[in-house]
This record gives sequence, structure tokens and C-alpha cells, in this order.
Amino acid sequence: MNGSRTFTMIKPDAVEKGVGGAILKQIQESGFKIIALKQTKLSLEQAQKFYFIHRERPFYNDLCSFMSSGPIIPAILEKENAVEDFRKLIGATNPANAEAGTIRKNYAESIDKNAIHGSDSDENAQIEGNFFFTEVERF
Ligand code: GDP
Repeated sequence: MNGSRTFTMIKPDAVEKGVGGAILKQIQESGFKIIALKQTKLSLEQAQKFYFIHRERPFYNDLCSFMSSGPIIPAILEKENAVEDFRKLIGATNPANAEAGTIRKNYAESIDKNAIHGSDSDENAQIEGNFFFTEVERF
């Protein structure tokens, strides 16, 4: 039986530091199968669209300009209980509060430059995966 799916992006800070491969290794060793993967760069308009859900938040503009500042690595991942287990693997939004061994504890610098995104629900995982990947990019 197939597991459920989640969506992730390795953010510009982590790609710039060259730790994208190390993060993908940790993700795979934690039992997630990579269904789709690429390196790309968002325009400001694309970042605004992706994060539309956060448009009322005070950090919306900073978030969108950061997320369009450099290359990112989006991916669709599969595992039983994918959304919840992946949120555990990445750790708290602010790396200062993240548990030891989590991706944000290992690689994030700050609450804004926090290395990685993980969907917060099955519904958003599907919407976010569809934002980046067509049918023929998923295996
Ligand atoms: P997540 O689900 O753990 O990624 O956290 P949220 O959904 O609350 O926030 C989305 C993203 O916005 C976070 O991953 C951060 O990159 C960014 N963010 C959250 N809080 C702040 C903040 O106070 N300032 C800035 N600049 N960015 C923030």
C-alpha cells in the first residue's frame, strides 16, 4: 500500500550553503521516498502566490523576498503518515526551539532562514506539490 504524501522545499539559505544533498540524505534515511525532485528559483510573484495563505502575516513580504532570493529544491515525499512525521523531522519553525537531530536544528540559522519547508496538512501538501510538479515529473 502506498503511504501518504507531503511536500517540501529546501530553502535558499540551505541551498546556498551547499547542504541540500545532506538534507536529502537525512530525509531518505528517515524513511521518506522521493516521488518528485528538482532545483529551481521562484520569481517574487511566484513566491507571493505560493505563500498567499500567509498574506496577512507581518513577515509576508520578507518571506516572499527571501524565498525568491536564490535557488530552492522542492520535492514530493512519500511515507506512511508523511505530513506529521515530516513536521517532526524538520523541527520547530524557530531553530532555537527545534529538538536535537531535526533538520532545522542541524542546518537552520534563524526563524526566517530556517532551511526547509514542510506542508502542514494533506490538503496543502497536494496543493503545494501541484504548484511545482506536473504528472510526468512524479515517479
Ligand atoms: P512553518 O510551517 O514551520 O514553516 O512555519 P509558519 O507556517 O508559521 O511560517 C512559514 C514560514 O515563514 C517559516 O518557515 C519562516 O520561513 C517564515 N517565518 C515565520 N515566522 C517568521 C518571522 O517572524 N519573521 C520572518 N521573517 N519569517 C518568518
